[in-house]
Amino acid sequence: AKRNGRNTFAGFEPGMDTDLKARRELDADLAQAVERGELSLAFQPRVGLKCGSFVSYETLARWHHPKRGEIKPSLFIPIAEQSGKINEIGNWVIREACRQSLDKLGGAPISVNVSGHQLRTRDFVENVLAILEDVGFPPDRFEIELTESILVEDRDRALTVLKALKRRGIRLALDDFGTGYSSLSYLRAFPFDTIKIDRSFIMNLATDKSSLAIAEAVMDLGRALNLSVVAEGVETVEQLTILASRHCDEVQGYLFSQPLPADKVAHEVDKNLAR
Ligand code: C2E
Ligand code: CA
Ligand code: CA
Ligand code: CA
Repeated sequence: AKRNGRNTFAGFEPGMDTDLKARRELDADLAQAVERGELSLAFQPRVGLKCGSFVSYETLARWHHPKRGEIKPSLFIPIAEQSGKINEIGNWVIREACRQSLDKLGGAPISVNVSGHQLRTRDFVENVLAILEDVGFPPDRFEIELTESILVEDRDRALTVLKALKRRGIRLALDDFGTGYSSLSYLRAFPFDTIKIDRSFIMNLATDKSSLAIAEAVMDLGRALNLSVVAEGVETVEQLTILASRHCDEVQGYLFSQPLPADKVAHEVDKNLAR
């Protein structure tokens, strides 16, 4: 596009100007969202298939915007990453997740999503440990979920940080497995405890042979490397049956519970497991 001033530019790409404006507004609003108490957490159970009961909860950030209502994390997390606000939000998520687990979930193990920007912050490891210690949450009940792209961006640094977290007892999960770069060498080099098979493979498990083959390969890999394998996005009994027959370690998805506030989620799990 030629830069003939703002109007020409906007006319050349309709919608761009308003998108940009909306984004700037959200960015400005997000800057105060934590202080104003607009963020909250939803917890989704990860259910162990061997014990047939919940193993832990994944923590997912929610933003209730005073004017626009619920804003999806897939929209506001990237904005927070760009503005650098992700560190404050990320710290809030970690602290609040631990606190709510202790207060409302009997101190159940939890996992939180961490973005590359957080991992690259100076003193990330010390910062996380300080929060856990302050709240009184045991590190071995705390798991960090990371996507592969984070590892690719700065491999050496990521490796150093993950090893340091691991030494301090924090667990590590490789999220959205199969969607990113999926270099198997990451599984060997990085000290993961858990692999999460991306929802896109689970979605078509019953109908698509290649999705099933990939899911099976990941489960075999998990066994061989002594990692716990979690299937994400399990919505049907059929999917569950397939995963259980292949000895998947854990399952997570709407079949068991949507992500819910802490005081609602424990009840939901009991109800659905009783069926
Ligand atoms: P993710 O880590 O892959 O989280 C799983 C997403 O799948 C969640 O979307 C969850 O609500 C959804 N989900 C769970 N079970 C099912 C199912 O059975 N069917 C379907 N269709 N969806 C299911 P959500 O909560 O909108 O989060 C989207 C993404 O935003 C997350 O993907 C994660 O990458 C990011 N995110 C969320 N909270 C945080 C956070 O506190 N920090 C960071 N850095 N990222 C976050
Ligand atoms: Ca995740
Ligand atoms: Ca995921
Ligand atoms: Ca995802």
